[in-house]
Amino acid sequence: MIFTIIVFALLWFFQIFFLQNFYERMRIRSAAKSMECIADSYSRASKEDFYDTVNRIGYENDVCVQVLDKYARPAKKKHVIGDCMIHDRGNSNAALCEMIDASDSGVIRLKVKNPRSGYDMLIYGCRLESGDSVDGYLLLNSVLVPVGSTVDIIKRQLMIITLILIVFAFILSLYLARRIAMPIDRITKSAEQLAKGDFNTKFDGRGYLEAKQLADALIYAENELSKVDTMQRDLIANVSHDLRTPLTMLKAYAEMIRDLSGDNPVKRNEHLEIIISETDRLALLVNDMLDLSKLESGKQKLTPSEFGISGKLGEIIGRFKGLSDKNGYQIHFTPDEERTVCCDVVKIEQVIYNLINNAINYTGDDKQVFVRQINCADGVLIEVEDTGDGIEEDKIKLIFDKYYRSENHKREVVGTGLGLSIVKAVLKMHNYDYGVRSTLGKGSTFWFKINDVKEK
Ligand code: ADP
Repeated sequence: MIFTIIVFALLWFFQIFFLQNFYERMRIRSAAKSMECIADSYSRASKEDFYDTVNRIGYENDVCVQVLDKYARPAKKKHVIGDCMIHDRGNSNAALCEMIDASDSGVIRLKVKNPRSGYDMLIYGCRLESGDSVDGYLLLNSVLVPVGSTVDIIKRQLMIITLILIVFAFILSLYLARRIAMPIDRITKSAEQLAKGDFNTKFDGRGYLEAKQLADALIYAENELSKVDTMQRDLIANVSHDLRTPLTMLKAYAEMIRDLSGDNPVKRNEHLEIIISETDRLALLVNDMLDLSKLESGKQKLTPSEFGISGKLGEIIGRFKGLSDKNGYQIHFTPDEERTVCCDVVKIEQVIYNLINNAINYTGDDKQVFVRQINCADGVLIEVEDTGDGIEEDKIKLIFDKYYRSENHKREVVGTGLGLSIVKAVLKMHNYDYGVRSTLGKGSTFWFKINDVKEK
């Protein structure tokens, strides 16, 4: 609407206030040009052609032309249109010729009022020369018709057009506003629903492309939020379950020691062992949570140092010796030639530890685990293989997610669902490739490749 009003204001301003001005300037320019053309044609063309030019230019530019001889008498040919102040007016024309002679440039440009019609008139004049001799005079008369009546007509027309267009603009803007605003309005209402936590909200992007794109973006955000929400719920459920179970056990066994087994050293030690192992489990969970949140915060920096990878693998496998001896697990280590690597030793240790720990937890009944070091041209490949159930194809992409735990394992495994998330975070920080090959019923091989190898 504002745009329409501005356009019309400009139109009114120029059409109504400046029309007279424009018109006058146009007439002045056309009179001057006509005079120039006729005078030019006199000096260049034949008499016949010259009078043709007089008539043509007179018609085209709506001016009266009078050709006078050198005594200021009218020559035979002239071009007369309408109201004319120079046509056959002997004396006054002679006066004009005198003025031409008196002027320095040999040209006169006058604006006079016609006493009969009351209109302003432009009278232009110049000498007609061939070589150095003056052959006569050329007078030219153009009427400046007042544009008041034209302005009135335009005004009326403009008024009607303005009214029609304002109504049209109003209807159009109303239609457009509704067309643009309605889908946005619908989407805003749905977004409010979503903000209240309703993840089943539908976003209707009908209307136009941008609304559809907005709706699609919000549907995507809704799906992501819904995933985060589910994960958060699972997290709370898992964490509270994982924390509550050892805490309940701790309390129960502490009470048992107080009330029953306090005096029985064998029973008491048994109960204390359980308390210790449950405390370990709690510590494991809390540590994993802390490690992962630190890694994910992006604030942790790598502190690379050089170390021999075969030695480090042997050392970590050695830590599982107690467990292997106690529960009959066998970890087979196939080292390659010792290679010095340069990476964050503490974090890489944790990766290897988590992979071996998982392999022990999920290996088959034969309790075999294989750790291999394979030196390649551009790094050292480390593989940890087990003989367990393997992982289903569609689960493989999920196992590295936080708190993802599969329930389909033969054995009840103590875990937090964070081990592989820590592995992933550390390897990503180092920019190392990693992955898993798995065959259902046969086992899985987790691998990663250390690229920062020191040249020998
Ligand atoms: P946790 O072992 O504490 O459950 P992880 O993040 O280490 O958590 O592992 C996530 C899930 O990936 C496990 O619950 C298990 O289902 C699967 N997984 C990990 N390692 C193996 C493996 N070696 N064999 C089979 N499944 C595995």
